[in-house]
Amino acid sequence: MTQTTSAHHQGGTAPPGARFDAVVRAAVGQGLLGEGGPVAGFIDTEGVRASVGALHDAFATTPEVLHTFAAKACSLVPVLRLLADCGMGCEVASPGELRLAMEAGFAPSRVVLDSPAKTREEIRLALALGVAVNADSLGELRRIDALRNPGSASVLGLRVNPQVGGGSIGPMSTATDTSKFGVALRDPGAREAIVEAFRVRPWLTRLHTHVGSQGCPLELIADGVARAYELAEEINATLGVRRVTSLDIGGGLPVNFADETVHPSYAEYVAALTTAAPGLFSGRYSLVTEFGRSLLAKNGFIGARVEYTKDAGGRRIALTHAGAQTATRTVLMPDAWPLRIGAFGPDGTPKTGPSLAQDIAGPCCFAGDVVAYGRELPELAEDDVVVLYDTGAYYFSTPWAYNSLPRPAVYGFRAVAGPEDGSGHDGPVTFATVRDAQSLDDIAAESGLAHADALVRRDG
Ligand SMILES: *Cc1c(COP(=O)(O)O)cnc(C)c1O
Repeated sequence: MTQTTSAHHQGGTAPPGARFDAVVRAAVGQGLLGEGGPVAGFIDTEGVRASVGALHDAFATTPEVLHTFAAKACSLVPVLRLLADCGMGCEVASPGELRLAMEAGFAPSRVVLDSPAKTREEIRLALALGVAVNADSLGELRRIDALRNPGSASVLGLRVNPQVGGGSIGPMSTATDTSKFGVALRDPGAREAIVEAFRVRPWLTRLHTHVGSQGCPLELIADGVARAYELAEEINATLGVRRVTSLDIGGGLPVNFADETVHPSYAEYVAALTTAAPGLFSGRYSLVTEFGRSLLAKNGFIGARVEYTKDAGGRRIALTHAGAQTATRTVLMPDAWPLRIGAFGPDGTPKTGPSLAQDIAGPCCFAGDVVAYGRELPELAEDDVVVLYDTGAYYFSTPWAYNSLPRPAVYGFRAVAGPEDGSGHDGPVTFATVRDAQSLDDIAAESGLAHADALVRRDG
């Protein structure tokens, strides 16, 4: 898994090992990637199961814990159903995600609704279903006061922002002093207001916090969780009853996009939490976690055809079908979200040969639609395939409709291990369709086709 050939090395993004080579070859061989499928997403089904297993193992000695998957990280019904099958719950943050979680088959008691802008209708539905709801503000608690039916099975919580500071990626840091999320715990009067909110609401039994993930050191995440734990202790001590009975400690474990190693691990996360808040695992509180990227990122990749290559101003450019429509974050924030890229021939076998600095560009019509600048790779040519690694979360599952480009197809795969002869796996690979590529009819329909006349009608 950690094979390296320095030929591809560029800017901290080491070349991938051979983990998915047989899958790429099979995808090309079976026509999923090529002229008929210029770009597609792929998910390693067994890899997902293994990552969920590692998460459960890390918390094996915790008395009561519900691990939820943050649906936004890979909002595809078959993926959510796979995760439900692995024993996960689901964290949702919109009516759409709630619908997907229900379609995937999660029991409502294993679903948690977050989001800073829940409508009354959304809250009503969540309470009727019995899914847990974390209020994002004291204002939202007042809405719940009015909407809650005393018989509701929903566990209700309040999100706090421990204001422990941000990580290296501003937009991914949720616990800064001025973050839009949760009740800002260190603001004047906030602690007293929170204690009072729990005092007058016997049904409010959970505290929630989520510090962020990518770019956030474990110590920062653990510090935020420790503040929530201390607050729970303070609320219970002040009220003289065990009002807070569970802690939703959020998620977020940064993913290592630089090479194949999984770092930090869930075990390291638990160790950091144990240091910061030793009482957290004592069983005083049941726990909820919310992980997304760390479960899926390394278990998925994007494959895309190279349509053309050209030279411009002394630079080699490969025009591929993987651009901002499927690698949005990387294209818009290339320094924060660099990806490892692999080069494969038209038959899906890894390319070899001397490396050349190449810009790997996408199909979108804006100049910045480039997923990597000056990347050292074997020289790409028309009909080759590029692979964008570690893109199982927030990439193909979160497409952008720019240029009316279709949402790419997504396939799950299982690679049966091949002979133990050091050749990497070479056994058969089977694929299952997770999502069809969007058709031109779909694109027309969602672009207002049903209202085609709306702006030229004279009578209206
Ligand atoms: C996005 C999100 C998560 C999951 O974050 P990852 O970085 O994908 O692990 C968890 N909790 C909340 C509230 C979130 O918004």
